[in-house]
Formats: sequence, structure tokens, C-alpha cells
Amino acid sequence: MDAPPRCDVLLTNAIVVTMDERFTVHASGSVAISGGSIVAVENGSLRYEADETIDCAGRVVMPGLVNAHTHAPMALLRGLADDLRLDVWLMGYMMPVEREFVRPEFVALGTQLACAEMIRSGTTCFADMYYFEESVAEAAAAAGVRALCGQTVLKFPAPDAASFEDSLARARDFIARWKGHPLIVPAPAPHAPYTCTVEILQTCAELAVEFDVPLHTHLAETVLEVEQSRREHGMPVVPWVKKQRLFDARVLAAHCVHLDEGEMRALKNAHAGIAHNPTSNLKLGSGVAPVAKMLELGLTVGIGTDGTASNNDLDMFEEMRLAALLAKGIASDPTALPARQALTMATRMGAQAVHLGEITGSLEPGKRGDLIVLDLDQTHNVPRFGRDPNAIYSQIVYAAKSTDVVDVMCDGRWLMRDRRLLTLAEDDLKLAARDVARRIDAFLMRREQSVLQKLIAIGGASEQESFEVQVKARLSSPDTVLDAISGDEITVIRSAHYHQYDTYFFFDDPAQGRLRYREDEFLDAQDKVTGARARLTLTGPSREAAFGSVLLFRSRFFAPATHSRRFYREYFNPTEERDVEKDRRRWLVAYHGVQFYVHLDRLLSPSAGGYFVEVKSRTWSRRDAQDKAAIITELLERFGARPDDTIEEDYVELGHA
Ligand SMILES: [Zn+2]
Repeated sequence: MDAPPRCDVLLTNAIVVTMDERFTVHASGSVAISGGSIVAVENGSLRYEADETIDCAGRVVMPGLVNAHTHAPMALLRGLADDLRLDVWLMGYMMPVEREFVRPEFVALGTQLACAEMIRSGTTCFADMYYFEESVAEAAAAAGVRALCGQTVLKFPAPDAASFEDSLARARDFIARWKGHPLIVPAPAPHAPYTCTVEILQTCAELAVEFDVPLHTHLAETVLEVEQSRREHGMPVVPWVKKQRLFDARVLAAHCVHLDEGEMRALKNAHAGIAHNPTSNLKLGSGVAPVAKMLELGLTVGIGTDGTASNNDLDMFEEMRLAALLAKGIASDPTALPARQALTMATRMGAQAVHLGEITGSLEPGKRGDLIVLDLDQTHNVPRFGRDPNAIYSQIVYAAKSTDVVDVMCDGRWLMRDRRLLTLAEDDLKLAARDVARRIDAFLMRREQSVLQKLIAIGGASEQESFEVQVKARLSSPDTVLDAISGDEITVIRSAHYHQYDTYFFFDDPAQGRLRYREDEFLDAQDKVTGARARLTLTGPSREAAFGSVLLFRSRFFAPATHSRRFYREYFNPTEERDVEKDRRRWLVAYHGVQFYVHLDRLLSPSAGGYFVEVKSRTWSRRDAQDKAAIITELLERFGARPDDTIEEDYVELGHA
């Protein structure tokens, strides 16, 4: 008789859940691994001479789980800001903190922490998207975990790139150097259609095609995104990115919460993989992806945790259980997304979705040795029934927990044995992570103390002060101003007519000043709206000086308002809010060779019906301010206002005495 063939590791006596196309389960099976690959999977015992033989009696051997979408380094931001709306969470917290803290070392540490958590919970492969993705790749490879690593490209400056040209160059360089690595598949990751330009989408697709690697992106995550796409491009998200030739590449699309059936078919025709992220979509209130429909149409759908900042963990057992339950709940149909299907999405189909289906996701000879061993002796797993062959799937999906994972192997290498991590120093990682959290806490606490700092943190204001001399007076009629403006003494340089809607945010500490959100509607001669703009002004409390009734102010920070009023309300969290609405005619005039702004305002709210004239000018020195104040006083007289008519209050203070 021939000597038995050799293998590195032989697992015996296991319930082998292969997750192959035929869903083969061996009640008492064996798996042989050699040279990093699975060489045999059989019921009964295998005739191999192994360096290491492990008796898996009472245990399940199954493929390692595939986390189809995450941002591993964000493990360091777990629990940083929760229960906020997506834009406030992302633009108000995540991005400012990332700009300040995200460096290669941060990314490496975060990925190590994430890998420790993923290994513990049975994940052997993850699809990632982040900044400094090379550090993710290095850390994952060192930890022995398989990963599709997507280098983020977006139109804004990012922690690892001053411009999108920089991030494209970084993506190309990363892909060129990591292509062909045994554990890491590099990819370009254009962040999302709404954070990318046409050029970014097209160039990333070309890059993926050139290097024959997948492309990782977020698609149709929120209703807002779809509405914006319809408004700006006249079509929903999928046809838009298709038009930009994104599907020339092998796309992995995360979320896909808001799709119509035509879009689903387009994704199927493009052989795109979908990453379903049920926890993240629920937590951020984005909705529930139509997963059952996608599966019915034949799409390839995996399951992902998304980053820990929106989950807040990387537990794929939780995620697949939720995916199954949620599909039933929204369809009012307990037969929707059965346990076996959920487990398929977390293994074989998930691997296909991230375009690694050839090498991982099931226990079959020829695939890499990516597997986990589950202990089914825990009380919550007892008893078990053998009558229904599908019982093992519901056992794993509905009863088992990530803490039942005892051993983890990836690419034939043990990463965990008897719940002990072999490639990562968990205690050191925890210490280092706590230290990062302390520094982020300190940064945010500093920022939260100042409205101005919060404004700057969201890219809201250039940090510059301005000084202004100003006077405001009540008028009985607008005619005196209109007459003076059309007279010979005053030269009009330009004029405009607006309808202004102001929202003032007040804060507990008056020293913070107050923040005004202004929406201007430009009106033409027929009072028709011809355009609009929104801007923010942070007004300091400081009145520097008074020259008679003319006041000198300082500390005004201007910024275009790129977010909605609702965003600023939720981000700044003011203690009080008041509205002012007015009709404004505005002239830039020259008088005695000096330029002034003249505002003729009809206050519509809070105190309806009143007319006011406001004269103001930028100033640079006390001397200049004094000179201008004298001219303003003279101008005011021409406008028919007496010094007695002047008021010091801002409009928002009138009617709130
Ligand atoms: Zn994501």
C-alpha cells in the first residue's frame, strides 16, 4: 500500500459546512490543508499524513466569513459620535477628526485593532476603503487576514491627499505595488457619486481596468443622494455612474439601499457585487436595502458591517442574523432570506461580491485555506436537531455567536487557536487605542468650547476678523432714501434687491457671539426671484467703540453656507433660535470719495411694516473709523433720519426686548 500523501493540517470529526454550490454538509467530515490551500474535503476520515491533526468533535468547520464592506481603521473612532444624522455625523465629526488625526500610524493601529476583532469573530476576508490604504494593506497582511483594499479617491482634500490628482496618483502607485500579493488585492475606491467628479469616476474605472482589479465604492446609500442625482443629472445613481463608464470595472457597490428594479438589473448586467450593510443603514436611518428583490433577480450580494463608527462593531455573526431578520420583517414574510441564504451571503456569495470568489468563501479543494472552527457546546447552542439538514444553518445564523469561534485559519495559517490570537498583541493594541481616544477627546472638547472653532472645523470660515462702522435708523417712509440715492451728491456704483431670510443661533455663553444663517433670494425689477445664496456669519459680541450714534464692530467671520439650515442647527446645537425676514435694497455708493453700503430694509418679521436705513463701511483703523463715522452721520441726515431715530439693536433683537 502507498504511503499516505502529506498535508500541513488535518481537521477531523467535524461537522463540515462547506458552503459549496450544492451546500454539502458532512456530519463527521475532514478537511486537509496544504501549502495554504484546501486539498481535500470529505465525509469520514481522510488518509493523509499531517504535521498537525486536530480532532474537531462537536465542532463546526466552515469557511471564514467575508465582511464585504468596512473601513477597518475607523475601529479607532468607535463610539465617537452616535445618534446623529448622516451629514452631521460625517461632515461635523468624522471628517474633521479624520483630517486632524488620520496618518499612516493611525491607519495601521486602527487596522490592527479591527483585524483582532475580525479574527475573534470569525472573519478571514474583508473589503476595505480608507485613506493611506497602503497602511491597511500592510497591517492586514501582517495580521494574516485577506483583504480587498480600496484607496479612497474623492473631490475634497483628504487626510492623505491635498487634491484628487494626489489621491489618484496615490491609488495608482498603491495598486501597482500591491498587485499580485497573496493576501491583498488593491483597488481604487472612488468614495461615492456625490463626493466624486465625473473625472474621478472615469479615471478610477480606467485604473481598475488597466490593472485588472476590482473597484470599491458606495452607491445609493440615502434618499438624499438619489434625489440629488435626479436633480443634478436627471437620473438616479446607477444609470449616472454607468454613463461615466464605472461598470467597465468590476464594481463592489456598498449599500444600494435606494434602487429601482431597472437599476438592480443594470448592476446585475455589470456583474457588480453588492455589499449589504444592515446595521449601518439602520443606525444612520438610511433605510433597508431591497435585498430579497436583489437576490430574486440574481444579483451577487454580500454582507458588510461598514465601519465601526456606524455599527459599532465588526461582528459578522450579528450582521448576517440581522440581514435575515430584517428581510423577513420588512416583507412581513418569515420565508424571506432563510438562514442558509444569509450564511451564503456571508461566505461564498460575499467572496464573489468582493470579486474574490475564485479563492475564498467555501471549503472546496483548490480554494485557499480560509476557515473557522465553531464550538457548539455553549449553552445557547444546546440542543441541536438532526432531522432537518438545514438545521445547521439556522443553528449558525440564529443561535451561534461570534464568541463561539475558537480557531481561525487564513491562507493556511492559524490566526487564532483556542481563542488566543497568534498574529496580534491584543493588549498592546487596546492600550494604544485608548491613548488615541484620549487625544481625540481632548481635541473635540477644545473645539466644542468655541462656536468659531466648530465653524472652522467644518471648513466653514476663514479665520479672519473684519471691522465695520455702522449705523441704523428707523424711517417713516422709504422715499427720503430713494430720493437721496437718485440725487447728484451720491454716486451709485451698484445695486441689488434681495429677500433675506435669517436664522440666528444663540448660545448659552454670550461671549461665543451668535451665528446667523442667511438665505438671500435675488430679485429682479419685477420682484421675480433670479437666484439664491446662503451664507453664515458669526458675529462677535464686541462693540469696540461709538462715534456718536455710529458704532464700530469687530469679529465677523463670513462663510458660504454649504450645508442646510437643519445641518447647522443639529451641528451647533444652539440654546435659542430666532428668525428675521426682510426685503432689502442694497446700494454700494460713493460719497465724498468714500465707499459705503446703504441698505433700505423693510422688516417683515419679527415686527412687520417698519422701514430702516443702514449705512456701513469696512474699516481698518480707529482713525479711519472715526473719519468714516463723521461722513456716515452726514449721509444719515441726507436720508432723512435724525440722530434720535438711530437704534443700536440688531433686527433680531427688535421685538425680543
Ligand atoms: Zn462605508
